Amino acid sequence: MNSRLRKRLFFEVRRFVHDIIYVDTRNLAQLTPEYLSLNDAYLRTKKKCESKKLPLDVNPKGVFACNELDLKEVNVYGFDYDYTLAVYKASMDSLLYNLGLDGLINKFKYPPGIREMKFDPNFAIRGLHYDIEKGLLMKLDSFLQIQLGTVYRGLSPVPDVEVLKLYKNKTVPLAYVENHGKTSQYFSSKMIQLADLFSVPEMCLLCNVAEYFERSQIDYHPEILFRDVKTSVGSGHPKMHNIVQHNVTEYLEQNPGIREWFERLYAAGKQLFLITNSPYQFVNAGMGHMVGADWEKFFDLIIVQARKPLFFTDESRPLRIYDKVQNTHVWDKVTQIKKGVIYYEGTLNQLQELTGWRGNEVLYFGDHPYSDLADVTLEHGWRTGAIIQELTHEIDTLNHTDFKKNCNWLQMLTQLIEECQEVDEADAKITLGTWTMERDKIRQDIKKVFNPQFGSVFRTYHNPTYFSRRLFRFADVYTSNLTNLLHFSEQHVFYPRRGVMPHEYSSYFV
Ligand SMILES: [Mg+2]
Repeated sequence: MNSRLRKRLFFEVRRFVHDIIYVDTRNLAQLTPEYLSLNDAYLRTKKKCESKKLPLDVNPKGVFACNELDLKEVNVYGFDYDYTLAVYKASMDSLLYNLGLDGLINKFKYPPGIREMKFDPNFAIRGLHYDIEKGLLMKLDSFLQIQLGTVYRGLSPVPDVEVLKLYKNKTVPLAYVENHGKTSQYFSSKMIQLADLFSVPEMCLLCNVAEYFERSQIDYHPEILFRDVKTSVGSGHPKMHNIVQHNVTEYLEQNPGIREWFERLYAAGKQLFLITNSPYQFVNAGMGHMVGADWEKFFDLIIVQARKPLFFTDESRPLRIYDKVQNTHVWDKVTQIKKGVIYYEGTLNQLQELTGWRGNEVLYFGDHPYSDLADVTLEHGWRTGAIIQELTHEIDTLNHTDFKKNCNWLQMLTQLIEECQEVDEADAKITLGTWTMERDKIRQDIKKVFNPQFGSVFRTYHNPTYFSRRLFRFADVYTSNLTNLLHFSEQHVFYPRRGVMPHEYSSYFV
C-alpha cells in the first residue's frame, strides 16, 4: 500500500469514527481501551437496532382487554351518554370554554381582558392533576411521581428546579392526591384530577386566566380561581344543553353503526339501559340524531339526571318518574320498571332491586373511569368498558414508522447505558454522558408527538400515568368508540395480553 493510500485510509477511518461516536478532536491513539470498547458496543447496538423488524401497526378500532371478558355471560348492556354514546365535535369544547369565560366575566366580575385568551384545543389532555394550593397543572404517573417537564403555571412551563424545590421530592404524598373515604372529590385533597373530557376546556380556561393574571401582575388565589372556573363552567352546562339540543348537527357526530349495534343486541335478546347525568330533552335530541326518533324502543330502562357518581354510592335517594310530554316530574313512588317510561335520580341499589340485574351479567360502558366505572365494578361486580376517544390519536401516533424506530432505539440505548454505566476512564464517562443526552432527547421527541405540553394520556416517559392505572383497574375492556364492538359477536371472549413483569423482562421491541 503506498503512503498516499494509507494516509487516505487513515482519514476515512477517523471520519467514520467521528460521524458515529461524536469524537474527532482527539487522536485515536490517545483513546482508552474502555472508550473504544464502549463505542464498539454502541455501533453494534445501533446496527442491531436498524436491522430489527418494526412492530405491526395497532388497530385504532381495537377493543383492548385489561381483564378477561366473556360476552356470552353478558345479558344486560348499560351506557353512559356524554362521550360514551354521544361523540362530540371540537365545537363542543369551544362552546364550553366560551360559556365558562362568559360566566367568569359576567357573574364573577373577572376582568373582561381575559377574553383575549383564546381556547386552545391542543393545550391540555385528560387526566392531569391541578394543585389547588400552588396553582399548578401537571401530569402524575402511577407511582404519584410528577413527570418533570409537564408542570405548568398558566401557560408557562415551570422549570424542574423550581418543581423539585416546591415539592421537595419528585413524588407527591398519597394524601395529597387521594381522599379515601371522603365524599367530596373536590376539596379535601390538595390535588384534583381532571378526568373527564368536559374538563379539557375547563383546564384550558383555568390556565388561560392564570396566565392573564401572571402577565398582568394581578394577585390571585389559585384555589379561588379553581373554584370560580369550575363553578362557571358547571353553571354553563344548562345553557350548553339548550344550545346543543337545538343545533345537534353542529355539535354531535353521527356515530354511524350505533343503531346497527343496538339492533343486533336487541335481536340477540340482550337488555339495554341508559344512565346519564344529562337532562332528557338534551339526550332525546342527540339520540334521535344518532339512532332515530324511535331510539327509546331499544332500552329497557332510561335514567336521566342520575347525578353520578352519587347514583352509584347513595343509599336513599328515590328513583322518580319524569313526564316527558308535560316536561314535569311525577311524585308517585316507583315500584316497578316499565319500558318507555323515563326515570331520573334514584340509586344503583334501587335499580338492582327493581330489575334483578346482578353482578357480572351487566356490562356498563362509560368514558369516566371513576364516576362511571369505579363503584359499579368495585362494589357491585359489574363488568365495565371504557370509551376513551383519545385512543384514536394515540394509536395513530404509535403507528408512525419514526415513532416505532425511536422507541426501539430508546429501549436498546437505555439497556446499553444500564449495562455499560460502570466505567472509570474520563473519556468513557464523557461518552456515557453523550448517550444519556441522546436518550433524553429521544424521550422528549417521543413525548411531544402526542401533545407538546403533556405528552401521552397513557404514559409518562416509562411508566403508566395515574389516569392509566385507574383505567386499567376499573375497566375490563377499553376502546375508542362503542361501534368498534360491531366487529365482535355476542359470543366473543376478550383475552388480556399476558403482561411482562420486571423479573420476566424481555423488551417488547427487541
Ligand atoms: Mg360521560
